[in-house]
Amino acid sequence: MSPVKVTKICCIGAGYVGGPTCAVVALKCPHITVTIVDLNQSRIDAWNSPDFKLPIYEPGLEDVVRQTRGRNLFFSTDVDKGIEEADLIFVSVNTPTKKSGIGAGFAADLNYVELATRRIADVAKSSKIVVEKSTVPCRTADAMRTILDANSKPNCRFDILSNPEFLAEGTAINDLLKPDRVLIGSLQTPQGIDACNSLASIYANWVPKDRILTVGLWSSELSKLAANAMLAQRISSVNALSAICEATGANIDEVAHAIGFDSRIGPKFLKASVGFGGSCFQKDILNLVYLSESCHLPEVAAYWRQVVEMNDYQKRRFSTRVVDTLFKTITGKRIAVLGFAFKADTGDTRESAAITLIRDFQQEKALINIYDPQVPHEQIWADLAEASPDIPLAATQKQVTICASAIEACKNAEAVVIATEWKEFCDIDWESVYAHMKKPAFIFDGRIIVDADRLRKIGFKVTVIGRAEAL
Ligand code: NAD
Repeated sequence: MSPVKVTKICCIGAGYVGGPTCAVVALKCPHITVTIVDLNQSRIDAWNSPDFKLPIYEPGLEDVVRQTRGRNLFFSTDVDKGIEEADLIFVSVNTPTKKSGIGAGFAADLNYVELATRRIADVAKSSKIVVEKSTVPCRTADAMRTILDANSKPNCRFDILSNPEFLAEGTAINDLLKPDRVLIGSLQTPQGIDACNSLASIYANWVPKDRILTVGLWSSELSKLAANAMLAQRISSVNALSAICEATGANIDEVAHAIGFDSRIGPKFLKASVGFGGSCFQKDILNLVYLSESCHLPEVAAYWRQVVEMNDYQKRRFSTRVVDTLFKTITGKRIAVLGFAFKADTGDTRESAAITLIRDFQQEKALINIYDPQVPHEQIWADLAEASPDIPLAATQKQVTICASAIEACKNAEAVVIATEWKEFCDIDWESVYAHMKKPAFIFDGRIIVDADRLRKIGFKVTVIGRAEAL
């Protein structure tokens, strides 16, 4: 046996990972035909839309899709055809936290991974390399291999690889074009190593060889959970320090700057905020907590659980600070929430801190104006309905208004809350905003992006995460 030369790739799952990842593979490997398949018709229609209104917002993505779509990149709902024709299949389906049953609230829901794997087993008539792209608990590849082997047809061999994705939304295209590393996990058998080399040779079209790391399957799976847990832990650590700063008069930006100079710590990912969001950090840490408990390691589970608890505390602390500062009541007061996405440069709202803040303000009977430059209005209504299932949508719509601009959202508001670090919020005409707000006019900066001294000179009362009050 020698490594298979891959000419046709199928990616199951056309989401935030499958779409950009395989679009970049198509861009860098014009000799390979890449088909991204999904059961979700409207998502595929959006990927195929004539005016390139893609289903996800990601800087640089449209340009990559414009160069590749119809050339060697295709989007389809025909999952079976995609599987049948491919030499290599990425499984890039969602792996959300389980909502009910055993491990609810912690374990990953592997139903989508299993269904995709069974589909591969049922449909494949020739050997395939199956690549776990989704983030999964350690040893999921074992389960996939068992399902595939038990259902394979004669002369049909499946090699399983783990190739977790480390892109960050908002910078996905750059992360994919210039990855810190590509990680490939395989069984350490001759066949496993051949499959690993086949995948590595695809990445070698644009990734330097020393950045392609090859490890065992279980190490690869665990490394993805570990990387997200370490990143989230760093945010929770800096957010814990931000609370101490607010209580003591220290400034979290100065503290982060000072500690980041230590080369053992480094300056990245030390920005305090209202809390991390996104579909991955919380889910993957909870997954690690569940894995630790399953391995009878309760102290390890408690250690990682604290990272998520700290994040919840940070969001709650911020809402409480808003209410306390507004004279301990926000009933009937209009609050402008700027930003709804979980971070800048994405339209993704999964686990966004903004949702928690707005739900808290709703419970305090405030009137809320929301503005986000990328999140579709129907997504905002759906997220609010999901976050507060006990509040009828009609009641929410009486309390909440979605606005077309930041300036419009701030009109007649008593307070502005910055929930997402969109660059345009740094450049707002704050003099004009001040003129149109009720007085005293408050700003709560949950992302540390405004020039607080300048805003105070205009007349605002400004509260910033990680700084003591200086109204
Ligand atoms: P997503 O929800 O955006 O996309 C998953 C897609 O898979 C959906 O469109 C869904 O319809 C499709 N799907 C599910 N089952 C299917 C099936 N049987 N056949 C065909 N299509 C199917 O999810 P995502 O954000 O792209 O994440 C995918 C995986 O990558 C997850 O495991 C996630 O943890 C991981 N990940 C995500 C990120 C991120 O930033 N979003 C980064 C790294 C890793």
